[in-house]
Amino acid sequence: MSAKLEDINSKINLVGMSRPELEEFFISLGDKKFRAQQLLQWIYQRGVSDFTNMTDFNKSLRSLLQDKAQIIVPQIESEQISKDGTIKWLLRVEAGEDEPSNAIETVFIPEANRGTLCISSQVGCALDCTFCATARQGFNRNLSAAEIIGQVWVADQRLRALYEGQSMLTNVVYMGMGEPLMNYKQVLPTIQLLLDDRAYGMGKRKVTVSTSGVVPKMDTLSETIDVSLAISLHAPNDEVRNELVPLNRKFPIKDLLAACRRYLDNKNRKESVTFEYVMLKGVNDSDQQARQLVKILKGIRAKVNLIPFNSFEGSGYERSTQSRIDRFSQILMDSGIIVITRRPRGEDIAAACGQLAGQVVDKAQRSNHYVKMYERSLISRKIGIKCAQYPDSNQAATLADIINE
Ligand code: SAH
Repeated sequence: MSAKLEDINSKINLVGMSRPELEEFFISLGDKKFRAQQLLQWIYQRGVSDFTNMTDFNKSLRSLLQDKAQIIVPQIESEQISKDGTIKWLLRVEAGEDEPSNAIETVFIPEANRGTLCISSQVGCALDCTFCATARQGFNRNLSAAEIIGQVWVADQRLRALYEGQSMLTNVVYMGMGEPLMNYKQVLPTIQLLLDDRAYGMGKRKVTVSTSGVVPKMDTLSETIDVSLAISLHAPNDEVRNELVPLNRKFPIKDLLAACRRYLDNKNRKESVTFEYVMLKGVNDSDQQARQLVKILKGIRAKVNLIPFNSFEGSGYERSTQSRIDRFSQILMDSGIIVITRRPRGEDIAAACGQLAGQVVDKAQRSNHYVKMYERSLISRKIGIKCAQYPDSNQAATLADIINE
């Protein structure tokens, strides 16, 4: 089992601490604030995890750090490389007592002029979106800031080893396992580290937080930090979205879009919000639904990202045909919306959107109802009636319990 990322032997793990937190830490050691920025550079820019190699710290500071602190990141359990160059890592993270350990997935997507890392924010996911493989794994816990930024650290080091020391990461998206805005407290310092020029120094347009629409946290994010926002919309009306994204029952489309408007109005933001829309055959891909989508996005600076559905066993959905996707896209473009159809990447290693599953000890026992649902759908197919996908319509109400305040 991997080392616990937090405070082994009461030593504090410095990975995941933002610059202000590190400044406080150095002051508590009786040292100077500016040590924080030196340390950030050692950890994130030079990839150094041994205090003895931090040569601009004097000997006594180095030994003090050795006594009080440590630098620990998740361990790579396995690595898969797709024929299109996409790399997926399974990273071991700590499980609770008496549980087998958990693992999360992190994906690197190389393109001609950029390298995007897709990181996870939770072990599993509690949102139960019906078309997403992560949901089927259930939910275990939030990741710590160390485990979240640790994914970037591990991937960066590994990529440098594969690509002759070159830094390959230009973009980071919070689109792996989990809902980042349900783990806001741990996610925020990791965004700060990605943007901090002493750590990863990425531009705000290179870092994207994707959410299913945790409205109150969208407002908090908007007030606190400038970062690109993506919304997993997937439907043009509440009826369809309630089925696909159960969180919609708590925060319906009207409230979600109002939060997007506030996000764009705040801080004089110039960029647009990206709306992700998974293309599901016969579910959300008709001409009429495209026109409805145009209507609800009116007045919002929006880009739409169409994602051809990535299949997994027992999903119960099919990908829309290419001609349907083209037609849907054309209707949006005719109305002036910028549309990008996402090319599925890493499908052969199950690294595409919605295929990340990791190894999750399903504490919340959320996966059970999928087994039941699957059984029901088999029965309903047999007797030829359409059965409700959500027998338990109260699920969304329980989500508030899991939001990490
Ligand atoms: N919980 C966050 C972060 C996950 S992002 C969110 O919902 O935004 C992962 C993206 O892939 C989301 O837009 C998600 O809806 C989409 N996705 C999930 N399952 C998918 C599948 N099987 N095929 C294609 N896209 C999928």
